[in-house]
Amino acid sequence: MTGATIKRDLRTGRSLWADSPGLGVPVRPLKTAVSVDVAIIGAGISGAFMAHELSRDHTVAVLDRRPPLTGSTIASTALLQWEIDLPLTALSEKIGKAKARRAYLRSRAAVHDLKRIVAEEGIVCGLKDKSSLYLAGDDHGHRALEAEATARAAIGLESRFVGPDVLRAQFGIDRTGAIVSQGSASGDPARLAAGLLRRAQAVGARVYSPVEVVEAASDPDGVTLLTDAGHAVRAKTVVFCCGYEFPKGVPTPGAKVISTWALASKPRQRCPAWLKDTLVWEASDPYLYFRMGGDGRLIVGGEDEASPDAHADRAKLKRKCETISAKLKALLPEVEFEVDYSWAGAFGESATGLPSIAPVPDMDHAWAVMGFGGNGITYSVIASQVVSAAIRGGTDADADLYRP
Ligand SMILES: Cc1cc2nc3c(=O)[nH]c(=O)nc-3n(C[C@H](O)[C@H](O)[C@H](O)COP(=O)(O)OP(=O)(O)OC[C@H]3O[C@@H](n4cnc5c(N)ncnc54)[C@H](O)[C@@H]3O)c2cc1C
Repeated sequence: MTGATIKRDLRTGRSLWADSPGLGVPVRPLKTAVSVDVAIIGAGISGAFMAHELSRDHTVAVLDRRPPLTGSTIASTALLQWEIDLPLTALSEKIGKAKARRAYLRSRAAVHDLKRIVAEEGIVCGLKDKSSLYLAGDDHGHRALEAEATARAAIGLESRFVGPDVLRAQFGIDRTGAIVSQGSASGDPARLAAGLLRRAQAVGARVYSPVEVVEAASDPDGVTLLTDAGHAVRAKTVVFCCGYEFPKGVPTPGAKVISTWALASKPRQRCPAWLKDTLVWEASDPYLYFRMGGDGRLIVGGEDEASPDAHADRAKLKRKCETISAKLKALLPEVEFEVDYSWAGAFGESATGLPSIAPVPDMDHAWAVMGFGGNGITYSVIASQVVSAAIRGGTDADADLYRP
């Protein structure tokens, strides 16, 4: 068994979390064929929540072609939000009012569950409760946000609209309005995933890396995974948690892989006091978002671009960081900061902002989890609940929301 180390991903710049302490996850090579109840492909945050949930009463193997946590998870800015990329009012128009309401309430419950799991397991990942400030922008103006806050409050979500005067007085921000919501959080996504994987290992899960799954074949009793290690993995159920590296043969209707950029200031950044407890994002396209990290860094992101590869372009990384910095400066002119880390990554988008958590078509005993949108980590929690309910022979009451 070897200890995995996180290395800087030279393609996309240096993620802040790559230098976090406590990321060691013991891994082993696949030296013989193995047989387990559940094989999870992908050791990012989705695979980690899945392994944590299932390893208590199943034998579990997690396989990753890279060291654990080195996919999208290490790049995440980890705003742990229940607010979906698409507002409740807009989502209602797409999927109907009742389903949209359920989707919002389920996301709210998932953030609550995430906090509970972290507390129960004693995972040190800088998790902090946060409120959120959703600023009016060119996608949704102040009237739309006022209606949105009313729709959310009607189902018990802790959101209220604030007009321009309150926004200026309380936050020093000059916009036509915003929604202030309670119940979100932020943390270090890599430490969270590492902690979950280690807890799963403590009750028997095994993490194999580097092992690439090159083919999967199902039969009435289970699935056989062929790997580049030359040994097969046999499982009663397989769960693809491959992030935005969509597995071949798994349809992804309506899903798009895009690029997104992020940066972090030096620690102990001087910022308005309210920002320590608040996540900020805006109803614009492309949108800007920011938050403080545990060590007082300002973490800022956005400038999404509809290209799956643009995040690998070094010259673009510099330009995008300049744009993100300028936008932040325009919003909070008093905040002077120096960029310490800048990075980029692949990001998934769906038409509804909802993830896909579904059985793989034409393959028995196989599930695929794709946590689209800016709520990828919240959706990883939901995915672990939906899939584990099915493996235990039941059905999650909200499973229908996440079928593409
Ligand atoms: C810059 C940025 C900012 C973000 N900000 C937020 C945010 O604020 N809040 C939020 O909730 N989400 C955010 N996200 C999204 C979030 O990071 C992702 O949804 C989440 O990390 C996905 O985790 P995952 O485990 O599904 O995928 P990954 O972390 O990508 O893990 C998938 C793993 O599968 C492995 N794999 C793939 N194919 C195979 C194979 N054939 N064999 C073996 N292994 C394989 C890969 O090596 C990889 O390690 C952000 C993403 C980016 C890039």
